[in-house]
Amino acid sequence: MKDTLLRIRNLNKSFGERKVLNGIDLSLYKGEVLVVLGPSGCGKSTLLRCINGLETIDSGDILLDDTSIYDKNIQMRQVRQKIGMVFQSYDLFYHMTVIENIMLGPIKSQKRDKQEVLALARELLRKVGLEDRENDYPRQLSGGQKQRIAIVRSLCMKPELILFDEVTAALDPEMVREVLEVILDLAKQGMTMIIVTHEMHFAQAVSDRILFLDNGKIVEEAKPAEFFTNPKTDRAKQFLNKFDY
Ligand code: ADP
Ligand code: MG
Repeated sequence: MKDTLLRIRNLNKSFGERKVLNGIDLSLYKGEVLVVLGPSGCGKSTLLRCINGLETIDSGDILLDDTSIYDKNIQMRQVRQKIGMVFQSYDLFYHMTVIENIMLGPIKSQKRDKQEVLALARELLRKVGLEDRENDYPRQLSGGQKQRIAIVRSLCMKPELILFDEVTAALDPEMVREVLEVILDLAKQGMTMIIVTHEMHFAQAVSDRILFLDNGKIVEEAKPAEFFTNPKTDRAKQFLNKFDY
């Protein structure tokens, strides 16, 4: 039996009159890599933001390690530290060096030991091939390098789960690969991840399971080999036909 890390029960979320997430039920086991696919506007980013506690929810529940992240009696900040999130736009601080960006959260929010954090930061930088850039400022880096730094910053918080929201969507094609390789490596190391991407080859290679969303509902859920060769719904077939992979 695999341990469940994340459990979502009947999650509902609207913006005004628009229902964006409609009865989402989902569990993720420790070490699982879930890729979420679906047309633009179907609710992928909202789902990730709800999991990270960045949105209010209308009803339902989200539990991490059996603790509800929307429980009023617990510190949202503590839960959120267990869940990392990497966005399309990096969100690095431009007045801080690479190493300062990476160490800020672990030292300020998590109150960890500076030497321990520095050692981990350097080890992670080495893993993504950027060990010689710790004193650079973000403006001195390419998009692909900035995104790898954003991933390192997230990893340095020692999260139990990382959410990736279209992290290569803004990158030039030649930089997409270097970022996807870092994520593939994390998958091999057993990191639990939810990934929203439009890179279909990558989705197939990295995932243990594919979730296909449409209109805020889970329309299809399958093993990648099954989803990409034999999607069950017309909606998923139409979606996949738009990609030549
Ligand atoms: P996706 O990431 O799949 O493209 P989103 O989760 O970003 O979709 O958005 C789902 C729907 O919710 C869209 O119709 C979008 O316009 C709407 N939406 C997202 N965020 C907000 C917001 N802050 N206020 C109002 N509507 C929003
Ligand atoms: Mg989105």
